[in-house]
Amino acid sequence: MSSRTLNLTEQLYQYLLDVSVKETAVQKTLRIATQGMQQSNMQIAPEQGQFMAFLVKLTGARKCLEIGVFTGYSALSVAQALPADGKIIACDVNQEWTDMARTYWRNAGVEKKIDLRIAPAIETLQQLLDDGGQSSFDFAFIDADKTNYDRYYESTLRLLRSGGLIVIDNTLWGGDVANIRVQDEDTRAIRELNKKLLNDRRVDMTLLPVADGLTLVRKL
Ligand code: SAM
Ligand code: CA
Repeated sequence: MSSRTLNLTEQLYQYLLDVSVKETAVQKTLRIATQGMQQSNMQIAPEQGQFMAFLVKLTGARKCLEIGVFTGYSALSVAQALPADGKIIACDVNQEWTDMARTYWRNAGVEKKIDLRIAPAIETLQQLLDDGGQSSFDFAFIDADKTNYDRYYESTLRLLRSGGLIVIDNTLWGGDVANIRVQDEDTRAIRELNKKLLNDRRVDMTLLPVADGLTLVRKL
């Protein structure tokens, strides 16, 4: 028995999936279809999708933001957990991947809940702020280009209501954040944001070793 977080073996990870992950048929087909793509490692893990859906239900979120859609698995997981009048504004720059996402959202009957904005996310976030969206979002997921993470965080924090939740993906970045010899731009950006979040008095935060590291941030 250990009091620190387990290092999951293949066998134990498979067990975790077997005894806890309940995907819908559309989630499963989307996950498998994405696995056949060259960029498949960008997709979130199924237990992470389920955890995010759980958070959405737990917090009663209705108005959500997603930064980084890819083929749509995370947005699908969140959309399925939202009430019928719930909404996600989803940001991405890639038409091809998000066309694929739309097909699966339609198959799952959640397409109407997802407002996809194809533009650099910084521009979409600024537009939402210009349109008076400040303090109006309940939940946000940040999972796009890592060098812009801090800018996404700052804009999202303004868009979030007090008590709202931001989920930031890849905050353990395959372990590279802890390896000082790794100094590429993506790693440094995540490392800097992690450091900043620890001392950010505007929020409560916790970093969970779920998938590639998931930081939960609650706006005070
Ligand atoms: N959350 C997704 C999922 O569940 O499968 C994975 C997102 S993937 C890691 C990152 C996405 O960010 C890609 O689809 C990419 O096109 C998008 N992206 C990259 N740069 C962007 C930018 N400047 N603005 C908006 N989206 C961007
Ligand atoms: Ca990710």
